[in-house]
Amino acid sequence: MQSQDIIPLPENQHEFPYFPKPTIWNFQDLTGQRFMRLEVKAYAGGGRWFCICNCGHIVKARAGDLKRGDTKSCGCLKKEISARIRTTHGYGSRINIKSEYGIWNQMHQRCKNPKHRYYSNYGGRGIRVCERWQKFENFLADIGPRPSLNHSLDRIDGNKGYEPGNVKWATKTEQARNQRNNRIAEYQGKTMTLAEACEIAKKPYSTVKARIDRHEWPIEKALSVPVKSNRQ
Ligand SMILES: [Zn+2]
Repeated sequence: MQSQDIIPLPENQHEFPYFPKPTIWNFQDLTGQRFMRLEVKAYAGGGRWFCICNCGHIVKARAGDLKRGDTKSCGCLKKEISARIRTTHGYGSRINIKSEYGIWNQMHQRCKNPKHRYYSNYGGRGIRVCERWQKFENFLADIGPRPSLNHSLDRIDGNKGYEPGNVKWATKTEQARNQRNNRIAEYQGKTMTLAEACEIAKKPYSTVKARIDRHEWPIEKALSVPVKSNRQ
């Protein structure tokens, strides 16, 4: 983890001790390169580099961690993010970290936690969160901040998982339209959209959808049991 890989040095230590760089053919000199908040200043031996963070702290970081993006700062970035996550009034803050973090967390819960109320529609039917989005920072960097409180996560192809290119922010209205056109159902031996199946079965889409999602009825039953008129 990030915090264990970073060894804070005394702040007044600006003269870096000399470590000869290895002479192996594939050694990569990172001096002068920037990795997020860290600027590489000198080789620190053992595959590590002395870096200066934007905040002024000097740290030693492993080359691999820098290149993979696992180490982005002296630890200050992580602290700032978790401070924002802890803020109760996160919705009022400029970059809205709290709400996006909450959404990111729920996305994982739906796909991984069998006790989540919607697990059967997500993890239970093979919907996964991609490797890259196991990290909140990557997720936020890829899809950007939530445009407004009316926006939530929308998968473009409902049968594909949470991955770059298949997820965008959408309002409830946009999302309902998208789901209607993308939701696939097996009905009377044919594959069709759920909306088409509802038309054939002459049942209101909203009722059928609620039967499947909320009451977990099988599709055939949801489309065949008569709808009580007072429920319209
Ligand atoms: Zn820092």
